[in-house]
Amino acid sequence: MTKKLLVATHNSGKVREFSRLLSGLNFSVVGLEDFGITADVEETGDTFEENAVIKARAYAKVSGVLTLADDSGLVVDALNGEPGVKSARYGGDGLDDERRVQLLLDNMKHIPGWKRTARFVAVLALAGEQVPGGLVTSEGVVEGAITHQPIGQNGFGYDPVFWLAGHAKTTAQLSGPEKDAISHRGAALRSLRATLEALSPE
Ligand code: IMP
Repeated sequence: MTKKLLVATHNSGKVREFSRLLSGLNFSVVGLEDFGITADVEETGDTFEENAVIKARAYAKVSGVLTLADDSGLVVDALNGEPGVKSARYGGDGLDDERRVQLLLDNMKHIPGWKRTARFVAVLALAGEQVPGGLVTSEGVVEGAITHQPIGQNGFGYDPVFWLAGHAKTTAQLSGPEKDAISHRGAALRSLRATLEALSPE
């Protein structure tokens, strides 16, 4: 018997990553569209954790199934932590990923290489009646630096400008499994693995 796990995001790049990361567990992974949930939950929190918890609780209530939500983003030191919790909306709703990346590069054009440090942060929240205490959260971080121009075709969002010194590549140059092994979402999910395994049917 498989049990449903709702991955509460409308972002197709994230759904792809979560499906890969959860593939070893005995859950039937479903997205918001499978439940006919089109409404967005407003992310009113000031931190990644607040927003992940808001989304997980709200979608668990609407769907009635075990729900995994994340809030993630890019934190750039030279921009005082921006775009941060506003990563998906940086520059306004009208921009696509490519223009958002260009805006980031424009805003950083006078910043020298050694000051371009940044990190991707992801907080996951798992909510549902079956979860001990109703809610569990975990955090993952990956350190990097912002390039001066986009490099690579894979991934989504800010991947083409996120440089990993240890790999001499951006995250947009990694394959899916390579990114999972080092990513903020991969790290956060590995911390939740034992809880998910305990909840997963035999
Ligand atoms: P949210 O978690 O849906 O609020 O949005 C997170 C936003 O942060 C995404 O839309 C991307 O712009 C950015 N982001 C989060 N994780 C990644 C990643 O792994 N690669 C590139 N961009 C990311």
